[in-house]
Amino acid sequence: MKIDVKKYKDFYFETALKIFNTPSPTGYYTEIASLLASYAKELDVEFTKTNKGCFILTKKGKKQSALGLAAHADTLGAMVRSISGGNLRFTKIGGPILSTYDGEYCTVITRNGKKYSGTFLSVSPSKHVYTDCDTIAHTEENMIVRLDEVVNSPADVKKLGIESGDYIALDPKTTITESGFLKSRFIDDKASVVALLTVLKILKDYDITPEYTVKMLITMYEEVGHGASYVPQDIVKMLCVDMGCIGKDLNCNEHQVSICAKDSHGPYDYDFTTNLINLAKENGLNYAVDVYPYYGSDVGAMWSAGHDIPGALIGTGVHASHGMERTHFDGIENTISLILLYLGL
Ligand SMILES: [Zn+2]
Repeated sequence: MKIDVKKYKDFYFETALKIFNTPSPTGYYTEIASLLASYAKELDVEFTKTNKGCFILTKKGKKQSALGLAAHADTLGAMVRSISGGNLRFTKIGGPILSTYDGEYCTVITRNGKKYSGTFLSVSPSKHVYTDCDTIAHTEENMIVRLDEVVNSPADVKKLGIESGDYIALDPKTTITESGFLKSRFIDDKASVVALLTVLKILKDYDITPEYTVKMLITMYEEVGHGASYVPQDIVKMLCVDMGCIGKDLNCNEHQVSICAKDSHGPYDYDFTTNLINLAKENGLNYAVDVYPYYGSDVGAMWSAGHDIPGALIGTGVHASHGMERTHFDGIENTISLILLYLGL
């Protein structure tokens, strides 16, 4: 069947705006849960939340055994560590390029659901006052969150309901350009979550009942290493869709789907990866095969947890990862096309 992925560009970007603008730093699953549930309903698939706060979207196929797909909806972020004067000291969530936090707007989410805006800054934030504003190391010790509230003491801050352990979500600054670029924080890995939703939209629109059941695992702890440690047992193969690396010693660009042969945790499944490369080649996709130097994925989490399931990794090429990321719809289109080929479509 010839599926025109290009015509899903509008659906993709409309969905991206909603998914990207819903805060979901690692482990904060409450808001994204209801959004994903509403998409599941709209796209006619079964929605399950696992006990630890990950999500499974199931499209029933002719066979009970399932082809797995995984993407992570959790993002980098921060958490309140302590209150110092009227400012918040924080601990980072995941491994961001911390210098890119400097100057970023953020939202503090209290345990009772209140939200307060603020800004990440270094402790030398003024050019007219500090000689080291350009050179200060961007570490947790040297950075704070300035709240947009009249607060001068820890007591003032606590009166707002803000406590240690509250999540801090960064403004993703999601922007879609006329030229087809998606620039935003957390393209890793929300771009893939939206790609999976787009695959479900395609299955619905073309009225396709796939040969195998399709189970999409949307994880919420990938950035801390154990996202896919639980995997439904009827999954016979797991294709992880996560960001493709771009840069030194790498082949991929933002217009391609990256197929990862090996990351810092070791090689991906040989036959599975070879099959993906052949599918990409035979179907004229724009792709690159790469070895990622500093990277781990949910396949690693799945394998470390002891699952006997072959795993492979693909994803759109993402520039400036864990900083101010960018990709292009071309890369997303190639990624969706490869997912469809994996599903036998
Ligand atoms: Zn990722």
